[in-house]
Amino acid sequence: MNYISDRIMQMSASETLAMTQLARELKAQGRDVISLSIGEPDFNTPEVIKEAGKKAIDDNFTHYPPVPGYADLRDAISKKFKRDNNLDYKPEQIVVSTGGKQAIYQAVMATVNPGDEVIIPTPFWVSYKEIVKVAGGKCIYVKTKLENDFKVTAQQLEEAITEKTKLIMFSSPSNPTGMLYTHDELKAIADVVARHKEILVMSDEIYEHINFVGKHESIAQFNEIYEQVITVNGVAKGFAMTGWRIGFIGAPTPIAKACEKLQGQITSATCSIAQKAALKAMQLNPAESEDIKFMRNKFLERRDLMYKLLQTVPDFEVRLPQGAFYFFPKVNKYYGKKYDKYTINNSNDLCMYILNEGNVALVPGVAFGDDDCIRFSYATSEDLLIEAVKRIKEVLAKLQ
Ligand code: GLU
Repeated sequence: MNYISDRIMQMSASETLAMTQLARELKAQGRDVISLSIGEPDFNTPEVIKEAGKKAIDDNFTHYPPVPGYADLRDAISKKFKRDNNLDYKPEQIVVSTGGKQAIYQAVMATVNPGDEVIIPTPFWVSYKEIVKVAGGKCIYVKTKLENDFKVTAQQLEEAITEKTKLIMFSSPSNPTGMLYTHDELKAIADVVARHKEILVMSDEIYEHINFVGKHESIAQFNEIYEQVITVNGVAKGFAMTGWRIGFIGAPTPIAKACEKLQGQITSATCSIAQKAALKAMQLNPAESEDIKFMRNKFLERRDLMYKLLQTVPDFEVRLPQGAFYFFPKVNKYYGKKYDKYTINNSNDLCMYILNEGNVALVPGVAFGDDDCIRFSYATSEDLLIEAVKRIKEVLAKLQ
């Protein structure tokens, strides 16, 4: 008897988490696996934030918080939006959730009706498509070009829009490509969206603080579409707080209220202690915080190192990412090649080959909608990055 709902049967498990779990299991069996799979800073949460979490326990913040988050946290997020992004979101437009993932999930459930089309530029972050599927939406994938740094153009979006389109979802800085949309590129997209008042945009800005080229640009800055944008952010990446599970949205009030209603039926609210730690994170000015600057600079050093290393891998086509901590090289020149019992036909085959023979865990590009590529997360030490690429080159050299 299969008791599992159709909804869950037709859903894929998170490929990023699956690869990470596999790497953990192999390590537990004694295999010397280097995991470049999960996108997670290897730094610990800054001391000042940890202290705020400890104090929250001592101060007995151990009761149910308000559903959308503590008032002081929403106030601090409102100020953060103004300070860092020049966006006006009042506290009542903000909902604090259990990670960016829950924030995205709720926003999609709150806005997408069954049959609605959701435009997702490809490559995309793994969970977007599954969340849309659970909501009954139809994913419309728009393939971007490596030569355009994997960014969707305004014209491509215009062509993909139909009378059924409800939402466009994208991230900048991008997971998995590390690319950033410029002010002008976002403006061109905003111009398209402004002509379609029935369409919403979900702008995932979780990698905001890991930006190597300049100021972060939010699409909600364009007044003509402000009422159509849901801005998603959180503390996981910029503040090394993945385990605290705090994400949030800034959105037009009716959307925020709908997300709050849903959250009240799912988690009641997110963890009180984590919220108090996140309050401290939001009060840190990223332009001044030594902790944030240190981590960003480290990621930049590693980005530069990884760029040099990956360029030495034969037949990888590599672009220089401008943010986040990912590389997404095109690797399809290896498809059709063989070694021993392995035949490489796609990104999954290549990743499993590299894992089994080279002990390096990566995520296949197919998980992000682009089977020609594979994703490297370089949020780990320089020594491990050097060793990982060395191993990869050795096993790739065996493929004929
Ligand atoms: N966002 C990270 C990644 O892409 C964390 C894992 C996940 O939730 O997908 O690796």
